[in-house]
Amino acid sequence: MLSKLSMAVRRFIDIGANLTDPVFRGTYRGKKAHPDDLDQVLKRARDHGVDKIVVTGGSLEDSQSALDLAKSAVVVEKDGISMPQLYSTAGCHPTRCQDFVRHPAGPDRYLDALLELIKSNGEKIIAVGECGLDYDRLHFCPKDVQLTFFEKQFQLAEATRLPMFLHSRSAHDDFYDILKRHRDSIRGGVVHSFTGTPDEARALVDLDLYIGINGCSLKTNANLLTAASIPSEKLMIETDAPWCEIRPSHAGYRHVATRFGAATRKKERWEAGCLVKSRNEPVAIVQVLEILAAVRNEEASRLAERIYRNTIDLFFADL
Ligand SMILES: [Zn+2]
Repeated sequence: MLSKLSMAVRRFIDIGANLTDPVFRGTYRGKKAHPDDLDQVLKRARDHGVDKIVVTGGSLEDSQSALDLAKSAVVVEKDGISMPQLYSTAGCHPTRCQDFVRHPAGPDRYLDALLELIKSNGEKIIAVGECGLDYDRLHFCPKDVQLTFFEKQFQLAEATRLPMFLHSRSAHDDFYDILKRHRDSIRGGVVHSFTGTPDEARALVDLDLYIGINGCSLKTNANLLTAASIPSEKLMIETDAPWCEIRPSHAGYRHVATRFGAATRKKERWEAGCLVKSRNEPVAIVQVLEILAAVRNEEASRLAERIYRNTIDLFFADL
């Protein structure tokens, strides 16, 4: 009873959910496995206190889809239950930066199109991103192209005064140098899905940036030490759904109190109202909070509220 009560007062904002992924419509690798259940995914999230979700845009085309989804989602009462409000980001992910080069009208036109999209949808697009550097996946996009077009996207943040939704993988030194160079001309940002060291986190916090934690940030004992080291006023949480699920083999799993196993089915055995095995979804943000609170030795509801406030301050203060 008590835990239900404290759960009810918790509120969350999932700052990173890839809800345009076809798996939320029941399609996996091009094959339909079950009915579209995005509404159920959103309702589950809402039932657990998620009141806002930021849908990630990873390219010009994907940013348009994320915006369309954010606009079309039901935000008012539906069957007596309100749904989470959806917002979106607009930008180009480091692994997709070849899109700039391949754009028929050239890279500058690609950037202009992103800018136009953001400027004409200020009520829904709340961040520039995701953008950054990913040296783990250079096979999708070479380093020089990533560097060029990460830097270019600061023009979007400067022109719109929107905060940035940032991605960095095995690229800390270059990532930090670029951020440092542009820090004074942008409003701020969050480095999402953080998997770096405590020193790397501290360097980014010293640039007055926030750090986003999800299941990928809580896999190893070293990850947990980093997550415990970040000042609470600089923390945000997210799921990165459908990716970055928290698994039993992960170091943080032992701290998870809310488990969905009994209500989870394989996609081939999909059932209305059930989660799908291995498809992460925004309701699981509660597990990210539970691990974070445990490793930081903080009271979970108090930490949730602190993180909620941080997120409002960066992304929603103007709305
Ligand atoms: Zn990312």
